[in-house]
Amino acid sequence: MRDKKTVQKVLSKLPSVDEILKGRYGIAWLRDYPRKYVREAVRDVIEVRRKEVLADPATDVSVEGMVPDINGRIRDLSSPSLRQVINATGVVIHTNLGRSIISDRAAENVRRIATGYSNLEYDLDKGVRGKRYAHIKRLLREVTGAEDGFAVNNNAAAVLLCLSAIARGREVIVSRGELVEIGGSFRVPDVMVQGNAVLREVGTTNKTHPDDYREAINENTGLILKVHQSNYRITGFTEDVSIERLAEIGRENRIPVMYDLGSGCLIDLKPFGIHSEPNVSDILKSGVDIVTFSGDKLLGGPQAGIIVGNRQMIEHIQKNPLTRALRIDKLTLAALEATLYGYLDIEKAKDMIPTLKMLLEDAGVLKARAKKIASLLKRETANAMIDVIQDSSQAGGGSLPEISFPTYVVTIKPKKISVNNLEERLRRGELPVIARIREDSLILDARTISDKEASLVVKCVKAALV
Ligand SMILES: *Cc1c(COP(=O)(O)O)cnc(C)c1O
Repeated sequence: MRDKKTVQKVLSKLPSVDEILKGRYGIAWLRDYPRKYVREAVRDVIEVRRKEVLADPATDVSVEGMVPDINGRIRDLSSPSLRQVINATGVVIHTNLGRSIISDRAAENVRRIATGYSNLEYDLDKGVRGKRYAHIKRLLREVTGAEDGFAVNNNAAAVLLCLSAIARGREVIVSRGELVEIGGSFRVPDVMVQGNAVLREVGTTNKTHPDDYREAINENTGLILKVHQSNYRITGFTEDVSIERLAEIGRENRIPVMYDLGSGCLIDLKPFGIHSEPNVSDILKSGVDIVTFSGDKLLGGPQAGIIVGNRQMIEHIQKNPLTRALRIDKLTLAALEATLYGYLDIEKAKDMIPTLKMLLEDAGVLKARAKKIASLLKRETANAMIDVIQDSSQAGGGSLPEISFPTYVVTIKPKKISVNNLEERLRRGELPVIARIREDSLILDARTISDKEASLVVKCVKAALV
């Protein structure tokens, strides 16, 4: 009985939402955060206290006592859903983590164009309406050797647009070995349907010959399409038709030929021991009419779909009504222009484009970085066994699937908590760190952790290990 009375007495001391909002703290919160979130946070914390009082009348019900909880709740509600994370997976083009990161130079260009007006569709020389695609035309020609080019929302859009513009209502010849699915939602046969083109499969899964294409050609053939296998390789008893041969067959029969490259690398990767990834300018030299590729895979720029090729064809594609629906926005254009600029000197591109820099980074540099992270960590915590070992990382993003890049990783074997627990704490922290687990160790791959991020990672791991 007395207990009930005490509880009632304490409950009556609980401040109301309005009291808190009108007080010193409330006024400050309302100045800095949306009223909706402040009210919700205050209401939630009062409710929590009410329940605590029912269980224990000695609960502190002062406003001061609630401030840290309310602060935390407001911050949770106000923190953006899309936020920066640290990629410790070593997968450079990690589709779930935003694929490529752009260079500082590109980001700075985005900021300028985003916060001021621009000549997006305005010709400054003539003072008349201009074209948004004009801004990257020259660079695309210079860095790929193509006659002309432009960019749309992403490479899936680029393929859809090209199919619709070139082969609407007509047959598109594709090798069975190239009817790929990329990232779960982009399937060549489905895109074909959307583009109102009729798929004409030739060859078998492992082998397609030039005659397979020649025999499939008829008066209703609109396009010969080659698709880069991107995220898988067929090995063993295989044969496909080179883009040079396809371009030849196309010329002989007056049928356009298109190559969907997916990754679209602009530099020659052979000096780095990578022979499977054709570069865009070599492909264009084959005489192919159209090449499409992604902006945020090996190119290392923003999400975009780049279409390059012969001038007539590009002009024809640009006139298609779908172009307007799939168009690239000005922020992407700003990032893309700066990224392409980085390729004018191929030698510099490896250092200027973060994706290339991370992929092609010298193993010695990765080793030094892993060692630095490990030694900082050892100094900061005794709650784990910490080591540096050699390992390998993947390019990701459906690029270079068969290649593993030698790398160095920090392995962390926690002593007080499970490795799963450690992984979860890091992932759910204020600055999320995304890492892999192998057996009973957490693996931090030095390849995708920048020097700037190294000390942040150490801080996050230390906090997660206590
Ligand atoms: C990745 C890829 C696509 C899709 O490109 P997005 O930029 O993700 O839209 C299409 N074709 C190939 C061969 C690819 O590798």
